[in-house]
Amino acid sequence: MKSVKLTAKEFEKVVKKISAKSLDACGTYIIGEFKIDVRKTKPLSGSERVSLLYKRRKEQGLCVVCGKKVTKKNPKNGQLYRLCEIHRTKIDKSRKR
Ligand SMILES: [Zn+2]
Repeated sequence: MKSVKLTAKEFEKVVKKISAKSLDACGTYIIGEFKIDVRKTKPLSGSERVSLLYKRRKEQGLCVVCGKKVTKKNPKNGQLYRLCEIHRTKIDKSRKR
């Protein structure tokens, strides 16, 4: 996992996520000269890992299926699509069947 640089103040948000038992708190953080690894004591289950990955990708504006940068916005709500063009077309087509 990529390390994220944070200030001590920003790390408080991560601590809040830990209190809320949010999986989102997991990560490697660099605060000044310190490195903090936040992870669960037990390995993540398959579904936990997938939901975390999807969430991360969605937050970063990446296709939740392949991780490609999403550039098109949904004209209805002005938000970026969750899927890249390829997967959006694929999934739309399979829905119509
Ligand atoms: Zn995709």
